Amino acid sequence: MRRSTSCLFAALFVVATIFPLLMAAQNAVPSNAPYKNAKLPADKRVADLLSRMTLEEKATMVGGAGWMESAAIERLGIPQIKMADGPLGVRSWAGSSAITNLPGTPLKIETTSFPAGVAMAATWDAELVRREGQAIAQEVKALGRDMILGPTVNINRQPLWGRNFEGYGEDPFLAARLGVAYINGVQGEGVIPSVKHFAANNEEFERRRIDEQIDQRTLHEIYLPAFKAAVQEAGVWAVMSAYNKVNGENCSQNAPLLEDILRKEFGFKGFVLSDWRSTYSTAKPLNAGLDLEMPGGKEAVEALKLPGVAAMGASGSWMTTENVLAEVKAGHISEATLNSNVGHLLRVMFVSGLFDHPHKVLGAVDTPAQQAVARQAATEGIVLLKNAGAVLPLDAAKIHSIAVIGPNAAVARTGGGGSSLVRSKYAVAPLDGIRERAGSALHVTYALGVAMAGEDAAQDTAEARAKLQKEAVDAAAHADVAVVVVGRSTRIESEGLDLKTMDLPAGQDELIAAVEQANPHTVVVLNTGDPVTMSKWLDGTPGLVEMWYAGQEGGHALASVLFGDANPSGKLPVSFPKKWEDSPAYGHYPGENLRVNYAEGIYVGYRYFDTRNVEPLFPFGFGLSYTSFEYSGLAVTPRAFANAPIKVSLRVKNTGSRDGAEVVQLYVHDGHSKIDRPVHELKGFKRVELKAGETRTVEFTLDRSALSYWSIEKKKWVAEPGTFEVQVGSSSRDIRLHAPLQLVSQTAPIKLGSE
Ligand code: BGC
Repeated sequence: MRRSTSCLFAALFVVATIFPLLMAAQNAVPSNAPYKNAKLPADKRVADLLSRMTLEEKATMVGGAGWMESAAIERLGIPQIKMADGPLGVRSWAGSSAITNLPGTPLKIETTSFPAGVAMAATWDAELVRREGQAIAQEVKALGRDMILGPTVNINRQPLWGRNFEGYGEDPFLAARLGVAYINGVQGEGVIPSVKHFAANNEEFERRRIDEQIDQRTLHEIYLPAFKAAVQEAGVWAVMSAYNKVNGENCSQNAPLLEDILRKEFGFKGFVLSDWRSTYSTAKPLNAGLDLEMPGGKEAVEALKLPGVAAMGASGSWMTTENVLAEVKAGHISEATLNSNVGHLLRVMFVSGLFDHPHKVLGAVDTPAQQAVARQAATEGIVLLKNAGAVLPLDAAKIHSIAVIGPNAAVARTGGGGSSLVRSKYAVAPLDGIRERAGSALHVTYALGVAMAGEDAAQDTAEARAKLQKEAVDAAAHADVAVVVVGRSTRIESEGLDLKTMDLPAGQDELIAAVEQANPHTVVVLNTGDPVTMSKWLDGTPGLVEMWYAGQEGGHALASVLFGDANPSGKLPVSFPKKWEDSPAYGHYPGENLRVNYAEGIYVGYRYFDTRNVEPLFPFGFGLSYTSFEYSGLAVTPRAFANAPIKVSLRVKNTGSRDGAEVVQLYVHDGHSKIDRPVHELKGFKRVELKAGETRTVEFTLDRSALSYWSIEKKKWVAEPGTFEVQVGSSSRDIRLHAPLQLVSQTAPIKLGSE
């Protein structure tokens, strides 16, 4: 009896004490495991770490763990990736924007609000965009996060997309340059960016179900270049897939996009994450190249139970540990595939430094340096569109009073609505900025003029409108200058919904026309992310300024341009059509039966207006200055070339009496192509600061890629030998200089020389 008891005790002792120790020893990772060695190349570390992971651990990593967190594997020291929304600043990660944009949001994060992407694009200043990315990344780190969900590089295909404000306009070359700059700024700080939304997210209408029919040439020439540059030039660490379908398949499980183009054609080595709740199965996305489903965890499941969410086609929580393990067991996902998905995530953790140096909450956000970047960007992005009779800049020595009017005057409307809207510590409204700059010497009055549509029912009756308009007209009539700030709100121009019209919201056209009647010195300021129709008042408008959604410093920036402290240098990154019917996408949007045909093909923006001779209201690249610039001496060297890059140079002189900056734009015209090509395409730009009277030489380098088109037949970029034209100018419709350029066939004898 005694014997058997002691045997039992011995057995229990082994089970309770030694067995766990044995297991732990087996699970324990030696401190000198190669993957822990920061000096080893990332690929070696990935291979070593993968070899130590259980199948279950791998399955856990491809599903999100929270609203904005990936899963950690503590046993191996694999950290979470803690994300924050962007791209226009750092946002709360507590839940969907429907919650975090509310005043009583559960986690109030106040950070620097930078101008909208379209305003950043209007600066044409890649270095400034890099500094913006850097400032945002510093705030991400200071808040203890690791990743920012941006930049948005989707192309402005048509003026009704509710999210146009987030992206860099209509041109793929401009979007590519600025996307690369933003990513360089972010990655330079060891923060993970996520270029989005791959691919062709160009309308909010049925964004989860719309199926876009886009041919390969259009994809490659218009909708993909910014992603390609992000991969090949910036070595971007993460890509977010889009909500929409492209050519019949959801982007989150679109193998032609994720595998054939992103991985094989572009050579992407980072990870792909889904846009929020845009996954529809388990094996298909993983096999197609999606590495991480977002969001995940309890919150995501709960959010999916909200009424109406399923009906919207929203889905998620497919790539959970259990689901993935079941699919591996069923043979629908191979372990090799899972290894490659997890490997992509691990690789980024190593190369970004996240694995070895997790970010700690330090808290320094919205520093004076970050505010200065926001202010410079807001200022440089402002575009002066009309300045009849030199109504601007305002001369504080000559005028005594200003009437500031409009639904966008006293409220700082810093961004569009949705997941990019940043909550800042402060925001300067146009009226505040003008008052501050005017000081006590100038009398500044204010009148609302018309309430913003949908914001105040009491002000929305015919009677109330007439009263408000009369007050505004009186204020304008009694002032030397009237500044009318009009535009949209976050409810009208927002992620999740498209614009119903290109027109300004109700009552604003009438307000402008009435103020113009009352005061001949009227300046209209647009606070929008998209073009608007202006036919009802533009002829009578002496001054017109597009300030976009300019972030927290918008009011200061606007005042500095109005008063001439800053000389406007912004240029339109998007053509302004006279009316919606003139847009190339008109008739091919939003689609029928959940299908939209991109029938205009490559003819997006100025490619359409300039080739088909449709006159826009204001062309791509256009923007006035308080000074003038003269272009001369265009030289192309060599003028005939095969492979080596060519140099283009010219001189630009500031011929006015004020310092200023000009954005010199280089377009290439293909005069001999066998296939249909746009009349010209942007292939270079430089923003040059020039003192009054100063001349500078501006240089560009072009290679074959600047002359090429995407051949559907050959499935590659092709540059046809023959004569091209280099055009240099101040907008797509203001070409000041041009010179021929000869591409000789690689086999023909090469005649070099410049003339
Ligand atoms: C947006 C993304 C955003 C994500 C997380 C989605 O609705 O399309 O751009 O990053 O939500 O908030």
